[in-house]
Amino acid sequence: MTNNVLPTKSCEETNRFMKGLARRNPGEIEFQQAVNEFVETLMPYVLENRKYRDAQILERMTEPDRIITFRVTWEDDRGNIRANRAWRVQFNNSIGPYKGGLRFHSNVTLSVLKFLGFEQVFKNSLTGLPMGGAKGGANFNPKGKSDREVMRFCQAMMLELHRHIGEDTDVPAGDIGVGGREISYLFGQYIRLENRFAGILTGKGLTFGGSLVRTEATGYGCVYFCENMFNHIGDSLTGKICTVSGSGNVAIYTVEKANELGAKVITMSDSSGFVHDPAGIDAEKLAFIKDLKEVRRGRISEYAEHFKGVTFHANERPWSVPCDVAFPCATQNEINLDDAKVLIANGVKAVSEGANMPTELDGTHAFLKAKILYGPSKAANAGGVAVSGLELSQNALRLSWNHEEVDTKLKTIMRDIHAKCVMHGQNDDIVNYVQGSNIAGFIKVADAMLAYGVS
Ligand code: GLU
Repeated sequence: MTNNVLPTKSCEETNRFMKGLARRNPGEIEFQQAVNEFVETLMPYVLENRKYRDAQILERMTEPDRIITFRVTWEDDRGNIRANRAWRVQFNNSIGPYKGGLRFHSNVTLSVLKFLGFEQVFKNSLTGLPMGGAKGGANFNPKGKSDREVMRFCQAMMLELHRHIGEDTDVPAGDIGVGGREISYLFGQYIRLENRFAGILTGKGLTFGGSLVRTEATGYGCVYFCENMFNHIGDSLTGKICTVSGSGNVAIYTVEKANELGAKVITMSDSSGFVHDPAGIDAEKLAFIKDLKEVRRGRISEYAEHFKGVTFHANERPWSVPCDVAFPCATQNEINLDDAKVLIANGVKAVSEGANMPTELDGTHAFLKAKILYGPSKAANAGGVAVSGLELSQNALRLSWNHEEVDTKLKTIMRDIHAKCVMHGQNDDIVNYVQGSNIAGFIKVADAMLAYGVS
């Protein structure tokens, strides 16, 4: 096949493939979106490599190994019996035990968990650690629930989940709506049910097998990845004006590390709107956000009431604020094509994704066309699951590494992921990190699957 035939053939094959996928997974728009982004960059590579093409590898990889659906029944503080739906999508365990977070949010659907599980397969592969991909969660909204209600929900969820997980089978962790509090309730219930203490969850508390730097890892890793992208073109984050969306765990530690590397962060947000602080969200102001969000569980508008010179923009996202770097750290599809166009028109130099799939597909195409440094989520936010992998290593060794040891390993993993993206994504004048991360993540999983024969 000559090079000028390949792009047309590849486009046709991608369309054909996506039609089949949509037929097999009707209405699952988030899952279809994630697969579309992956397949459109992978198709030329697969068509050129006979061993992948002939093995129907993309068809096999886009079908989860197994999906477990179950009811979670629990009692609220007023004595009402409540029922939610929960899932665990065990997507692919070719290169290691299933690994990936649990999400509690009212918009959790099977499609959302399938997209997250699919992304997790290749993200985990990129870390270089032996982890397969999975995702789980429930359509449970923790907002406004008391600690006791959250506890009862987590305990009820583990009543079913415990039989499907294990340190060598499937190791869940946190995601949106599941932090240290929830992991602790889930873990306590597991050891009661199974009468064994083992590394079956990550993101655990430091007194019961957790790892230092796990809480910070996704945010720190996202900034390290961005710094790597800048360093590759002889630049750095120092002095850059940054916008961050979100105010959860990922956003908070993205701001902390960006500050440490000499950047200035001027926005953060939650589902009610965003705050714009032209003076910069420094360490002291970030401590206010940590207390507001992690302890008091309040709204971001309080930040604008508390600090001078800050404006609050209700029901808006921060992408209209001019910046050098954007760190979307809230949720999926928070940057649409119009947002991407505004960011580009305002001169954005880099986008590094802390959230999973925060950019819609046509927004991604716009960033690639504009040739900015665009770090897609499966590469840029892999630091979280990477330190989860290090937590598992420490659990298996029955020891704990210090802060510096873990942080150094995290930095090395992010640098290696960057290098893999360059190796597979370097085009004439720019690195296409979407292509690089997809191909690099794919090869390891695909080669394992081929080695197992027909499976
Ligand atoms: N939820 C995180 C992610 O999206 C972390 C998963 C984990 O640590 O297993 O990668």
